[in-house]
Amino acid sequence: MWIPDQIIIHHSMTRDSETVSWPAIEHYHTHIRHWKDIGYHAGIEEVGGRLVCMYGRPLWIPGAHTRGQNSSSLGFCFVGCFDEFAPAERRLRMAARRVLAPWCIQFGIRIEDIYGHNFYADKSCPGRMFDVKLLREYVKEELRAAPRRP
Ligand SMILES: [Zn+2]
Repeated sequence: MWIPDQIIIHHSMTRDSETVSWPAIEHYHTHIRHWKDIGYHAGIEEVGGRLVCMYGRPLWIPGAHTRGQNSSSLGFCFVGCFDEFAPAERRLRMAARRVLAPWCIQFGIRIEDIYGHNFYADKSCPGRMFDVKLLREYVKEELRAAPRRP
């Protein structure tokens, strides 16, 4: 069984429009890149002014998002482009609360093992203005509120 021990954060580099973008990303990955499924395990986007977490590839199947790291990592995508401006705090907190902290608990992933794609590749992804350290802090806050195992 595949056990991921890190989470890798991406941005889509596309504008986060008012409408749902996730199926367009899925279409791009499956029909243009010809992957078996969307490359990310989950993501977050704004739809009609509300933030929504979207699920992608099943957690028991490695993703397709970071060259050399797919067999050990879960891939999470912030829809949008964060090269020019940082993602809003509420977007980071929602991702931390709904998906990233639960993944840390489910797989025993350490907060320090949440990385931006740019840690592994010469790219700006998840954006030059994206603060991964801040995201880790929000995950830590969520985990502090989580019940401990006996
Ligand atoms: Zn990326």
